Amino acid sequence: MDEIQKTIEALQANNIECVFVQNKQEALKKALEMIPVGATVGLGGSVTVEQIGLLAELRSGKYTVYDQYESGIDMEENMRRRRAGLTAHYFVTGTNAVTMDGQLVNVDGLGNRVAAQAFGPEKVILVAGKNKIVKDVHEAFDRLEKIAAPINAKRVNAATPCADTGVCIDCDSPARICNIYTIIRRMMIPGRITVILVNDSLGF
Ligand code: SF4
Repeated sequence: MDEIQKTIEALQANNIECVFVQNKQEALKKALEMIPVGATVGLGGSVTVEQIGLLAELRSGKYTVYDQYESGIDMEENMRRRRAGLTAHYFVTGTNAVTMDGQLVNVDGLGNRVAAQAFGPEKVILVAGKNKIVKDVHEAFDRLEKIAAPINAKRVNAATPCADTGVCIDCDSPARICNIYTIIRRMMIPGRITVILVNDSLGF
């Protein structure tokens, strides 16, 4: 059994739905089929969601999106939207790693992205390229430290050592983006989370 098939079956055994699609276009189509027009939608930071064109579609006016990334809003409004996203009908984001034994491993700065994955929104859609697949939780944490976190720190222009060097030193920086770590081992509610797994390399 190849690693993709193994991952899909393991996720499903853990009550996490998984839909495998071939490319970005199919991923976008699948996500839009799942989110009814007019739904409230919360967002977690995800380059993958942007890369497949989903962020632009969500911002098209057909949905009530709690978009903390909208330019020009102040921090108070930013936080209000992050909180609202936790009780939205749908929550859309990515995942830092998916293990071949069906677990979702993430690290977050503020925590709203991982909180919503765990509980809150009725339905969670996670879009992930096949590059996010790792063998187990140990490899997942390795991926977070060596790939996902330093690249994301650079992307958001964080004042952290890794944003300059690309190397994690487990910093004590006030701007540290690695604060809340989560492992979703299994979901109590079957199908609350759907992973749209894309046969492509996406995000970090
Ligand atoms: S712990 Fe600090 S140095 Fe390491 S990846 Fe996170 S922000 Fe960067």
